[in-house]
Amino acid sequence: MSDPKSAKRSIGIVGGGLGGLAAACTLAARGYAVTLFEQSAWLGGKAAVLDEGGYRFDMGPTILTVPSVLRRIFAEAGRNLEDYLDLIRLDPQWRCFYEDGSILDLEENPDKMAATIGAFAHDKQSAQGYRDFLRFSERMHAISERFFFYRNVGGMRDMIDFSVGLKPKLLADVLAMRMGHSVAGTVRKYVPDHRVAQMLDHFTQYVGSSPDQSPAVLCGIASMQTAEGIWYPRGGTGAVPRALVRLGEELGVAYRTSVNITRLRTDATGQQVIGIETETGESFDFDDVVCNSDTVRTHRELLAHSTKKVQRFDRRRHYEAACSGVVLYLGLDRAYDHLLHHNFVFSKDPEEEFATIYRKGEPADDPTCYVCAPARTEPGVAPPGGEALYILVHTPYLRPHHRWNNIFPGYRQKILDKLKRCAGMPDLESRIMVETHLTPQDIHDRYRVFNGAIYGLASHGKWLGAFKPANRSPDFRNLYLAGGSAHPGPGMPMALMSGWIAADTLHKDRLTAS
Ligand SMILES: Cc1cc2nc3c(=O)[nH]c(=O)nc-3n(C[C@H](O)[C@H](O)[C@H](O)COP(=O)(O)OP(=O)(O)OC[C@H]3O[C@@H](n4cnc5c(N)ncnc54)[C@H](O)[C@@H]3O)c2cc1C
Repeated sequence: MSDPKSAKRSIGIVGGGLGGLAAACTLAARGYAVTLFEQSAWLGGKAAVLDEGGYRFDMGPTILTVPSVLRRIFAEAGRNLEDYLDLIRLDPQWRCFYEDGSILDLEENPDKMAATIGAFAHDKQSAQGYRDFLRFSERMHAISERFFFYRNVGGMRDMIDFSVGLKPKLLADVLAMRMGHSVAGTVRKYVPDHRVAQMLDHFTQYVGSSPDQSPAVLCGIASMQTAEGIWYPRGGTGAVPRALVRLGEELGVAYRTSVNITRLRTDATGQQVIGIETETGESFDFDDVVCNSDTVRTHRELLAHSTKKVQRFDRRRHYEAACSGVVLYLGLDRAYDHLLHHNFVFSKDPEEEFATIYRKGEPADDPTCYVCAPARTEPGVAPPGGEALYILVHTPYLRPHHRWNNIFPGYRQKILDKLKRCAGMPDLESRIMVETHLTPQDIHDRYRVFNGAIYGLASHGKWLGAFKPANRSPDFRNLYLAGGSAHPGPGMPMALMSGWIAADTLHKDRLTAS
């Protein structure tokens, strides 16, 4: 897709998260001169790595799905992903621990999983319900592929060309989406067993949103995981940004770390972005700018001088942050053999848990804990026999009254008590050799996100909740948006896809203009 006409165009990228790195590689592969600015000392954003006391922790994402997105980015430059990353397939995908002591493994193969569910729930209806749910999920996945993925979308009108009318196939797709229904309601329509339903609800946690407020189309996430599997990159998920940085370097991307961008410069009319300004007063001209920084903060902070345009951005929709979280990084001297690589230790009452986090805006009293035990796959993450245990609990996004310095000590104990009680880890505290943590306030400050959100913007709204700000800014010419708070949304594969879409849209715009 390299185009000599674009060879001299210069692109500035703000932010070196997965979206920014993906955009940089795609644009460089297509012949643009790319400079990427990152405020932190490392590249990869939330996909950061902590090395401490002989333990190595992935600090952010640990579950890698839909590797075809990464493959596509490497293919832009004619490279094979496998030459840059060693991906290991994990199956079973998750181990689920329930308050009543039961345990259920999520297996990749739908038939095997349906049989497991039949035996677990002691009812044929749940097994058949799981098959039917997956069929619905496949349909939602296919609809997402057709209308939503790999294209610039900011709302319904970008997805569907209404001028040609609703053709029967399109109408069937729109009806199939169960618009106005939630993920939680859809799951329960198919699966009567409350524990299996709780497991399926949790796919919406990949986008930091409540299953009872998220549109049914997000049921498609289950099929994405079943179709392409869950993968562990050898070296940890931090190996993903490292691979992208290497590819970018080979393609000539200039990386400038520890540079804080404080302003996007606009032309005299205020219509067009023409460059960037750094905290130290340096100023750079660019033909186009791609912002991988949070979309809401980009507008309210970096573009604050364009008051009217920012007001227009703010009026377009209600921007609600996705959930935040508390993460514990525990270096253990002895591993737990009964854990899988990925584990969920579920709350007793998911309705109460989600209502507390997403409606009341308070940390849940009995939280679901996600537990990652990477030494199951790569023992080198810890000293011999040990474990680099990672525990993530979703919390509400930051509210003005949240004082995490005060909340954290008690909440940490609540999390450890839950694991001791429900996940067969009664001696957890005595195994801890090294300990670090992140609170929602730390996440907010460290990654410069909107109200501490881990996953960009919430997908709440049973009709239009899946839509995020489009990748081509409708407000400023020559400004493109990439990352978890832009279309198509958060999580590693979607943030990467977002970077690809921003780059592809920019490239097509230049081809059309020339
Ligand atoms: C604890 C945690 C667990 C997660 N678990 C998973 C998981 O298991 N699986 C999964 O798929 N996803 C997971 N995610 C979500 C996933 O990490 C994100 O959706 C994805 O990494 C976001 O990528 P991004 O492109 O939006 O960039 P970000 O990672 O948000 O990076 C944006 C970058 O922009 C920089 N920046 C911002 N403003 C400026 C500025 N003004 N100047 C210069 N630089 C700036 C920031 O420093 C940052 O490095 C998790 C996230 C967290 C935090």
